[in-house]
Amino acid sequence: MRNKKNLKLLSLLLALALVFSLVGCQTSEPATNVEEPVAQQESVAVETPKEPEKPVVNMDRSDTGKNGMLATAKPEASEVGIEIMKNGGNAIDAAVATAFALGVVEPNASGLGGGGFMIIRFAETGEEAFFDFREVAPGNATADMYELDEEGKVVNEGKTVGGKAAGIPGEVAGLLTALETYGSMSREEVMQPAIDIAENGFLVTDNFVGIIQDNFEKINKFDATKEIYLKNGLPFEAGDTIKNPDLAETLKIIVKEGKDGFYKGQVAEDIVKAANDAGGIFALEDLANYELKMREPVKGTYRGYEIISAPPSSSGGTHVIQLLNILENFDVKGAGHNTTEGLHLWSEASKLMFADRGKYMADTDFVDVPLAGLASKDYAKVLAEGIDKTKAAEKVSFGDPYKYESGSTTHFSVMDKEGNMVAVTKTINYFFGSGVGVPGRGFILNNEMDDFNAEPGTSNSVEPGKRPLSSMTPTLVLKDGEPFMTLGSPGATRIIGSVAQIISNVIDHDMDIQDAVNAPRMFNQRGTLSVESRMDKDVLKELEAMGHEIDIRGELDAYFGGAQCIIMEEGLLHGAGDPRRDGQAVGF
Ligand code: GLU
Repeated sequence: MRNKKNLKLLSLLLALALVFSLVGCQTSEPATNVEEPVAQQESVAVETPKEPEKPVVNMDRSDTGKNGMLATAKPEASEVGIEIMKNGGNAIDAAVATAFALGVVEPNASGLGGGGFMIIRFAETGEEAFFDFREVAPGNATADMYELDEEGKVVNEGKTVGGKAAGIPGEVAGLLTALETYGSMSREEVMQPAIDIAENGFLVTDNFVGIIQDNFEKINKFDATKEIYLKNGLPFEAGDTIKNPDLAETLKIIVKEGKDGFYKGQVAEDIVKAANDAGGIFALEDLANYELKMREPVKGTYRGYEIISAPPSSSGGTHVIQLLNILENFDVKGAGHNTTEGLHLWSEASKLMFADRGKYMADTDFVDVPLAGLASKDYAKVLAEGIDKTKAAEKVSFGDPYKYESGSTTHFSVMDKEGNMVAVTKTINYFFGSGVGVPGRGFILNNEMDDFNAEPGTSNSVEPGKRPLSSMTPTLVLKDGEPFMTLGSPGATRIIGSVAQIISNVIDHDMDIQDAVNAPRMFNQRGTLSVESRMDKDVLKELEAMGHEIDIRGELDAYFGGAQCIIMEEGLLHGAGDPRRDGQAVGF
């Protein structure tokens, strides 16, 4: 596999300022079921003004290093983690510092008001740890808390915007517990970089401007949010700087008081007030009782490589393993990358996997889920035998209770020279979450309640203290028992397929990690095959002839996520960021 040349941070930031009119959706809309019409050739009007030239997207977000590597959604955050490592911090110190910094520089995607998952593998012992710091439903939540119409659809925006959309945040508990358990540095050392950026400001990119524009209405509804993320009531412009002194103060309280500084006392009171002033049902005990869960990761193999990934309350790890298990029954390499045969197999396997996800998956603290069966090779073989190689199976007819997941979120990967691996995916769900800013505290509450099914009586219906079902899939891959790859992505249910496709691109198609990240992606949850428009047009025609309904999306479409990945080979670390977002790997 080839290495890529190092990039200079400054040139990247300048390139980023040009990139994002080309990049596809930065939407905070419920994306999974958005059926866009197949792109058509428009007839050209005689006097049509000349199209502005498309900016050149920097497709190389890679770096190579011997000692440490961070691949994150923001170059500034990658730099924070690298500095921590250079100052003697371990991979967990770097991960925690980076996570806090991402909450400052990518506040639309994750932050103190959200939650996530962290998976770690220690090179020396081969031991793994999994931190589930997913948000939970408030104690006063009920299965029928969202009003539904006759068709079972939520009648207003209460499940996505405002206080009722928010779950009890888990991020602070997750990051501080990881630091206390496995880190080597103090809270102050790992949180100071985030505090510095919040005080001095971060650079607004075109990507970020687009996200603010897309979410203007939501931001504008909440004073505490618009005070920070609008400039005189209007979106910021690329090149501006956003400072967040309130967030710096909140981070300082957490440095001083630890978890209690967030889950108890004045900050907790402010959170409850902000949520409830916006129609929420938070209570102080919900915060004081928030419980981080340490869990066993799910494990599987793909063509001899070991996959270690996220267990419930995420569906992600189990279904990445299930999808790869189904594909293992076919000659994926021989079928070729993004060929008619290859895409058909991926599409059919994805539909089968998502059918099971919709039926069985939920928080295993509340519901029995047949995890071993879902991840079993024998079961996958039976499913694979049902795939017709010549035509697309009928559309799956049952509903998907998780259809309102967004495509926001952030993922980052960390590896050091010893081969310690950390993968973190964290979120406030939709871009800018519920929109509810906590006045004077500088952060936004999530809208993770939207990942529950609004209908009572299903496995993923709301219950007090339950975690809404996630698709987030921070994943580690071992080769011959040795550290090999650390990866993950945002993108709601697309995360599962994106992670599996990147693993297959590397293992089946021998791509280097940047090419594996950049390669055009597909997704099929319920019968429509969504693809990036870079796919071969003749292949798409052949797939249509086989009965596939095709949805052609953007060239480099953030709908398919923003994967940040690292590979270790022959002692060298190769990182790749995703050009679908502001991703950048930085190593040393
Ligand atoms: N709420 C989503 C989940 O947990 C976040 C993932 C995403 O939208 O990227 O699956």
